[in-house]
Amino acid sequence: MEKLIDPEKGRALLRLLEESSRIVLTCHVRPDGDAIGSTLGLWHLLRSLGKEPTVVIPDKAPGYLQFLPGFKEIAVYTRHDPFCRKVVEEADLIICCDFNIPSRQDELAPLIQGASCRKVMIDHHQEPGHFADLEISYPDMSSTCELVFRLIASMGLFGEVDLDCATCLLTGIITDTRNFNVNINHNDIYEILMRLLELGVDKKHIVKEVMETKSLDALRLEAYAIASRMEVFPDHKASLITLSKEDLDAYNYQKGDTEGLVNKPLEVKGIVYSIFMREDGDGVKISARSINDFPVSAICKDLYGGGGHLQASGAEFDGSLEECRRILVDAMGDYDKYLKNEKKDR
Ligand code: 5GP
Ligand code: MN
Repeated sequence: MEKLIDPEKGRALLRLLEESSRIVLTCHVRPDGDAIGSTLGLWHLLRSLGKEPTVVIPDKAPGYLQFLPGFKEIAVYTRHDPFCRKVVEEADLIICCDFNIPSRQDELAPLIQGASCRKVMIDHHQEPGHFADLEISYPDMSSTCELVFRLIASMGLFGEVDLDCATCLLTGIITDTRNFNVNINHNDIYEILMRLLELGVDKKHIVKEVMETKSLDALRLEAYAIASRMEVFPDHKASLITLSKEDLDAYNYQKGDTEGLVNKPLEVKGIVYSIFMREDGDGVKISARSINDFPVSAICKDLYGGGGHLQASGAEFDGSLEECRRILVDAMGDYDKYLKNEKKDR
């Protein structure tokens, strides 16, 4: 396997792990497969090493991740405030997985940032912030789970990876790469896959659990969104899906139901980027995806103060869905310059 991790980072992390026992693992709000896979994967590893780790997350994890070993042990801040507060305050190390800035933890951020113990960041988002004593940031990794695997190998701890740990790590890689379809920058990720399979991981089962467990309502909501709520802007090679609270209610929307919807328009030849806006409380949750290195992260950042990766990013907008849509539609022309390298056929 290519040695992509600075050995000093691995050594520094190993030192911190050796010096600590009550370790908190945490991730971003609205956690996805990579956020939960990386924290739980490390949780299993640390337990194998005889530590007392606790996974503390800002809010509830989606139901499709319930199959992950250790899922039930996760402490959710919005549900178990006093317990989370206690473990964070008593922790001697906090490992922040899959986010680059404290605000990605919403309400949990002050508690984590206020903790007096040392902190580690393990992340693959662009523009890492500086809130941790040890920053392990590799934006060219497909996923934090890929990064965690390489770190474990770099620390010489691969022998401690059991089937449960391996299952969690492969889940994050599968969700962030859409089953090895996007965001892969290093071909030896297939070597990582092979190592995980050798440990007995059931890849088919993971794919079934995380990618093929839609409810009928969710499938119908997706069909409705594409048929009735998708606009295409051929001049900008863009598509936009907007779903209002009314739309969501009509299909009995449950958290996670629109997961993956933003990718669908990219299956159409000629569409280079896809934006999805979903009314959420008093605001709007924005998801963006692209192909051919079109920087949707710039759109999310410039227009809505969000971020993420070049080809997969998001943001939250504090205002109406209509306003949110208008801002994008008015600004689309400004991003045509990034289309100039597009091959004629896409
Ligand atoms: P998703 O569309 O799956 O919610 O998010 C895609 C990517 O964008 C993820 O890597 C995520 O971390 C990032 N992202 C999503 N929402 C936000 C946001 O509100 N702010 C920032 N900075 N990044 C986001
Ligand atoms: Mn991730």
